[in-house]
Amino acid sequence: MTDSIADSGAGDGAVLRLTGVTAGYGATTVLRDVTLEVAPCTVVALLGANGAGKTTLLRVAAGSLQPSSGTVEYAGRDSGGERADSRARRGLCHIPEGRGIFPTLSVRDNITLFAARRDATAAIDLALQAFPALSGRLRQTAGTMSGGEQQMLALSRAYVCDPRLVLVDEASMGLAPFVVDLVFEFLQRVAAQGTALLVVEQYINRVLAIADRAYVLNRGSVAHSGPARDLLQDDVFERYVGATTN
Ligand code: ATP
Repeated sequence: MTDSIADSGAGDGAVLRLTGVTAGYGATTVLRDVTLEVAPCTVVALLGANGAGKTTLLRVAAGSLQPSSGTVEYAGRDSGGERADSRARRGLCHIPEGRGIFPTLSVRDNITLFAARRDATAAIDLALQAFPALSGRLRQTAGTMSGGEQQMLALSRAYVCDPRLVLVDEASMGLAPFVVDLVFEFLQRVAAQGTALLVVEQYINRVLAIADRAYVLNRGSVAHSGPARDLLQDDVFERYVGATTN
């Protein structure tokens, strides 16, 4: 069922390309021979059961975990051995599961750190435009905010760091329904700006509705890849992962 690279819609200009990637932790292999592409200006959903290796794949893409074999190309460069901070400077924004904010720093300092070389005042303006609920909280210690506010702060990274590719891992996890709506508005707004997205999401039907393509991981291997609409109309997810879409 997995379609070929030639048919993947990414072509030579893929912003991210993993080819034959095997990766894991110590003696534990998690990803096996994974090939995946994200074309510029597209949204790719990465689906799979708990423990399938989705977070591990995003870590490999971000450069925080090096594969034991296979290649990772990001923005036209073979990124073998390239560290996460270097990829981040080249426009790769990773919003990890558990948010990836600095909980002991103020909201203002978090945004300033996300912004890296961008002017701090401009970065704060952008973050507050994106998430007005953060205004009035700039001096608050980030870790003392509600879960939803902390996730808004985490997502604001994608606005202030001027990314080419955003990796988003389970951003809606454990959040109230109105914050989940904000997460999906965020994904659509970032996509509308022409930024590529690779998204792991528990709300499968909602992410498929905004995605161009989807990959299904099963026990660390790609069980299916193709247009997102195929999964919306089919029982592919159920077939490969043994769970129903929601
Ligand atoms: P979930 O949907 O539950 O978050 P996932 O698809 O994102 O799962 P991963 O978090 O990538 O899956 O985990 C894949 C496997 O790797 C799991 O068996 C997990 O226990 C293991 N694993 C993850 N992180 C580590 C680590 N730091 N050290 C050892 N094993 C790990």
